[in-house]
Amino acid sequence: MSVNAINATHDPALSSWVSSANAPASDFPIQNLPFCAFRRARSAEGFRGGVAIGDQVLDLGALHGLGLFDGLAAQALAACAQPVLNTFMGLGVPAHAALRAALSAALRTDSALAEQLRPRLIPQAAVEYRVAAQVGDYTDFYASIHHATAVGRLFRPDNPLLPNYKWLPLAYHGRASSIRVSGYDFARPVGQVLPPGATQPELAATRRLDYELEVGVFVGRGNELGRSVPLAQAEAHVFGLCLLNDWSARDIQAWEYQPLGPFLAKNFATTVSPWVVTLEALAPFRAPWTRPAGEPPPLQYLDDGALREAGAIDIQLEVWLDSAHMRAANLGPQRLSQARFRDSWWTVAQMLAHHTVNGCNLNAGDLFGSGTQSGPLPTEGGSLLELSGGGRRPIALAGGESRTFLEDGDRVTLRGWCERRGYARIGFGEAVGTVLPA
Ligand code: MN
Repeated sequence: MSVNAINATHDPALSSWVSSANAPASDFPIQNLPFCAFRRARSAEGFRGGVAIGDQVLDLGALHGLGLFDGLAAQALAACAQPVLNTFMGLGVPAHAALRAALSAALRTDSALAEQLRPRLIPQAAVEYRVAAQVGDYTDFYASIHHATAVGRLFRPDNPLLPNYKWLPLAYHGRASSIRVSGYDFARPVGQVLPPGATQPELAATRRLDYELEVGVFVGRGNELGRSVPLAQAEAHVFGLCLLNDWSARDIQAWEYQPLGPFLAKNFATTVSPWVVTLEALAPFRAPWTRPAGEPPPLQYLDDGALREAGAIDIQLEVWLDSAHMRAANLGPQRLSQARFRDSWWTVAQMLAHHTVNGCNLNAGDLFGSGTQSGPLPTEGGSLLELSGGGRRPIALAGGESRTFLEDGDRVTLRGWCERRGYARIGFGEAVGTVLPA
């Protein structure tokens, strides 16, 4: 079973008896059906799985109690009644597909189940989320060559890309314990920094706080320690994608990162969107994976025909910022940049195949970050580090403010969606976080 095949659940003619799902601008039409873990806001209820339909959450815990599905779909639904979706994610592609098909049939306009399901809908405005899985391990990649080049140029103007970049999907092992769902507000972190011109470091609140626009990847079925996952099977081990903000303290990072890489500059907070869009939902938005003429092909374990035909995923990504002043003046958020995930130098399948090539074991619910996604133009940087040229070019904000890095009270919102002629537009919702004073 290929997760890339187009099937009846992608039919653009499908509509839902949940009328908000049929609005053309909705992130969550019936063709999307992303998963979350949720409960009613400010309640003592247990978390359980939910699926988005329009502006509602279908309560999968309550749906499980109705016993309407059977076979593999019922088995998958039972796993969605748990407080986190690790078990569901680990069931594998056939179970995910069976539940998606059953939910699609139950939510479409002509469904005989509409009256039984209607009381199991809860408005998204009335729920709170947690991270969809208990993340055991988190790995952050560096898959955008435009980001790697732009950042490399700040430090090494003559030699921005290091020689390994074009050969392997670079990454570091991140911190799982500080991953939070959208809406997490956090204090500006303190750390060791070396002020410009100083001969010794000081302990201070970061002055160069930044965001990173990334795609998150939740691992589905895991692999045993010692058993690598070949590229051709890599996507069968992916559950789905979300938005991810890898908050970064650039001054702490600059002082600490050599020789072992990021540490305290990045482990104080990582924000993910509540909704995980399955790989199956993304099937209509696959794109060829290409390398520009003259670039070396990757080693054979990272290259095959299926990858070249449809290995990339065309997700449009955006970063928006609104400051405390902009909110007080009702100015609305300002878009800082846009990028497309299809421009990534490495694909999700290549990341997973490379991660396991040495036998490293992945578990259901593990999370990857794609690395900051930047476009080729200077205005398409996925971080303030790039957009401000390392802090040298302030960015003008509506209302007269400017930014090189984030100020207290700044709220950063990531958005993502997929659009293609002949298919329904689907979205990822938002990943939002606000910076509080140190
Ligand atoms: Mn990152």
